[in-house]
Amino acid sequence: MSAELLIRNARVWPSARSAVIEDGSVLVRDGRIAKIGSFRARAKTVIDADGCLVMPGFVQSHVHLCQTIFRGAAEDMPLLPWLRDYIWPLEAAHDSESIRTSALLACAELIRGGTTAFLSMETVRHTDTVFQAVAETGLMAIIGHCLMDDSCGYAPLAVDIDDAIADCDILLEHFGLGENIRLAVAPRFALSCATPSLKKAAEYARDRGLLLHTHSSEQADEVELVKRRTGQWNIHYLDSVGMTGPDCCLAHCVHTRPDERSVLRDTGTKVLHCPSANMKLGSGIAPVPEYLEDGISVSIGSDGAACNNRLDAFLEMREAALLQKIRLGPQALPARDVVAMATEGGAHALGWHREMGTLEPGKRANIILVDQRDFSVLPSADPATNLVYSNCSRDVVMTIVNGQILFENGQLATIDGEKLKADVNAQRKKLFERAGLA
Ligand SMILES: [Zn+2]
Repeated sequence: MSAELLIRNARVWPSARSAVIEDGSVLVRDGRIAKIGSFRARAKTVIDADGCLVMPGFVQSHVHLCQTIFRGAAEDMPLLPWLRDYIWPLEAAHDSESIRTSALLACAELIRGGTTAFLSMETVRHTDTVFQAVAETGLMAIIGHCLMDDSCGYAPLAVDIDDAIADCDILLEHFGLGENIRLAVAPRFALSCATPSLKKAAEYARDRGLLLHTHSSEQADEVELVKRRTGQWNIHYLDSVGMTGPDCCLAHCVHTRPDERSVLRDTGTKVLHCPSANMKLGSGIAPVPEYLEDGISVSIGSDGAACNNRLDAFLEMREAALLQKIRLGPQALPARDVVAMATEGGAHALGWHREMGTLEPGKRANIILVDQRDFSVLPSADPATNLVYSNCSRDVVMTIVNGQILFENGQLATIDGEKLKADVNAQRKKLFERAGLA
């Protein structure tokens, strides 16, 4: 039987910790990596990757597809007013068409920039539409259904916790515990749900083997509010409601005390680092090297386009590295550690580390080709420093997920780019009118 796809004549970089295989090849069969190394083979499809680095696709662990169409709408604002005055009214105004367009816009940007899998948090309605849109694109994803109850202080998005769980049941029934796309349970943050609701959500997710995904300790004000409302520091409070553990993914964790970090470490809770969003909303710098030193799993996400404004793994890697050098000096967080966070770290956060994050026989063929011949990259040969400091997302020349080419020669294979651009402008206008923000 002939193999499906052969990438040859490449600089193959199987993982952030491994050496580059010069003049290497990768053989893909039935959507998985069949062979990797220096060898010759025949295949139905042969890709000559001369001048490219062939590496695992990025796995972004914190994005909001539903917010992509809000890009540029609310700038230069602190977190809580930004949420209350713009993001929540826009989320509440979403209909099935606007959220589908927003999700496809995100997927187009992610695919073009070399992201092959992600964990997201969507809103309280229309999560089924997001599932359908992502499935059409061929990306792998764990999609979070957002939970907010009466205690969130924003009535249009408040949903009774039992109704929200019933929605999760429906999503599970339709999309199941898919091999390529799965559901996560995503209480928005500690303040968005009452204590019994958070406990119920954690129990529900754990009983069904679903990830829990939330925001935590993003800004000092938020941490103070949690303390005032619950009497506990944020991570201790989340721990008390069952929202810590290897199945819990906490975005940000910028403001954590040493005793909270011990809880993260002891419970195996995953930290999702979003450096651009943390800078843009003035949140602070997450203590990433300290987390890594403690053995805490850290991955990278671009957060939503409303607070970044890009969904670009290259940008996040560069900023993750540079921020720590401001804090701790130039030796902090070397490029290889950053690439590891953006690939293997993401895979660990999603619980898919046996499936992706490195190029190994048996794993999914989630592979990207990154051009190393641009003026901004030459003459460096080190893949880690190139990726973190020199390459940019437009250097991605091919994105492959499960052996399927989703992006090649500037063209998206599963998304009609021109139609999408027209839809984005039309849907954005209608959405902003519905939200009273036109
Ligand atoms: Zn977020």
